[in-house]
Amino acid sequence: MTAQILVVDDVAANVKLLEAKLISDYYEVITASDGFEALEQAKAHKPDLILLDVMMPGMDGFETCQRLKADPELSHIPVVMVTALSEKTDRLKGLEAGADDFITKPINDAAMFARVKSLIRIKTLLDELRLRDTTGMQMGVDTNEENSFIADVAGAKVLLVDDDSVQSKQILSKLNETYETHLVEDPEKALSVAKEGAFDVIIISTFLADMDGLRLASHLKTQEETRNVPILVFVDEDEHHVMLKALEMGINDYLTAPVDKNEMAVRVRTQLRRKRYQDALKSQYQKSVSMALTDGLTGLYNRHYLNAHLGNMVKQSLKNERKFALMIMDMDHFKSVNDTYGHDAGDMVLKQLATLITRAARATDLAARFGGEEFVVLMPETDPNASLGAANRMREMVENTPFTIGPDKTIHLTISIGISNLISTGDSAENLIKRADEALYSAKHGGRNMVKAAPLHMPNGW
Ligand code: GH3
Ligand code: MG
Ligand code: MG
Repeated sequence: MTAQILVVDDVAANVKLLEAKLISDYYEVITASDGFEALEQAKAHKPDLILLDVMMPGMDGFETCQRLKADPELSHIPVVMVTALSEKTDRLKGLEAGADDFITKPINDAAMFARVKSLIRIKTLLDELRLRDTTGMQMGVDTNEENSFIADVAGAKVLLVDDDSVQSKQILSKLNETYETHLVEDPEKALSVAKEGAFDVIIISTFLADMDGLRLASHLKTQEETRNVPILVFVDEDEHHVMLKALEMGINDYLTAPVDKNEMAVRVRTQLRRKRYQDALKSQYQKSVSMALTDGLTGLYNRHYLNAHLGNMVKQSLKNERKFALMIMDMDHFKSVNDTYGHDAGDMVLKQLATLITRAARATDLAARFGGEEFVVLMPETDPNASLGAANRMREMVENTPFTIGPDKTIHLTISIGISNLISTGDSAENLIKRADEALYSAKHGGRNMVKAAPLHMPNGW
């Protein structure tokens, strides 16, 4: 997969230099020569990463970054600031503006590529989740959740693995201002604590006396419980290879020692925001999946799911020579409920009917809303007699249950049911539905509040 990188710098020679380096590593490059153009390009192309010069006339890199991060459509795109300044205050200012990292000019190629690669890898995961989210929205799923990268992360759970008590004390004093922290001084215990603690971010020192911190990190990346938890490591400024190794392994971010606690705090916050965003997208996806399969009003399976499931059940029942029955039920004179008491009252009735159906059905039965006021129950391993019995119990239950349509207001209603039973040769999901529908039709014509079963052989001409 080739990724697209937006290079922003007011000095044309700098743009050319970075562009050449990136292109030789097979990245696709787009460019901008000031902050305004950068915002335009970002909006138009949605690049995978932005390399942003700090010192530019007009709008500087800090402000450009801030604006990028304030736009929900762009806030998830990683930003790496490129600067000739290596002052701590500037680094902090950039990170606070939402930048993921800093690289200093002259650029160390290995460090830059390691960072770029690791940030793009992390973004790819987000893209996948964002795509699912879009699909959900296209399917009409509105989960009513404002999703943005800029989430509140206060109260998050942070684990620090560090055997240097002077350093850890300093770090924790800062983190404790915002987060719930947990310190593990014995690295042997770190794995089990991390697996059980449901942490939002894990910080590991690579200066541990008794263990290789990177080994611990790589282990955490392979464990089911911890592999999606962002990991930050502390590395020695001179141990360049450790930093490169860490990024290559999928460590989310690193800090050079001696650790600046303010810089650490903003880097932790960036990781937490990304994690929150990812988690929100994931849970939204799960919700949209369940919404795509269920009916919003009654909570029963929808017709879409029913069709898929019925096909499977019929196939399986035929293969295993099992009985299978299906019923379609339809409210009698339901239109007059709407006409007399209003559509909301009609909705209340439908919800209550769904509850009755669920309560009456066996655990192996599957109930679905087939259409407006029609419901279908699939009954595996049910012979014709048993299906008739089940349908009549359902019909009686509805007849004898008052439906609430307002405060202190109930009405009595009835249903008609058509049944079809699987015929061992040449039957299909479609035919079962068709036969049950015809049986329902004859129940309606027979006077309603009635159960009719389709004949146990295929009608002539089918
Ligand atoms: P029959 O006994 O022949 O079934 O008569 P009916 O009035 O129940 O049947 P008809 O098919 O004429 O009308 C069904 C009504 O169900 C019409 C439609 O407005 C109503 N309906 C369908 N879906 C909903 C819904 O989600 N909520 C409400 N309140 N009404 C619905
Ligand atoms: Mg009806
Ligand atoms: Mg109807």
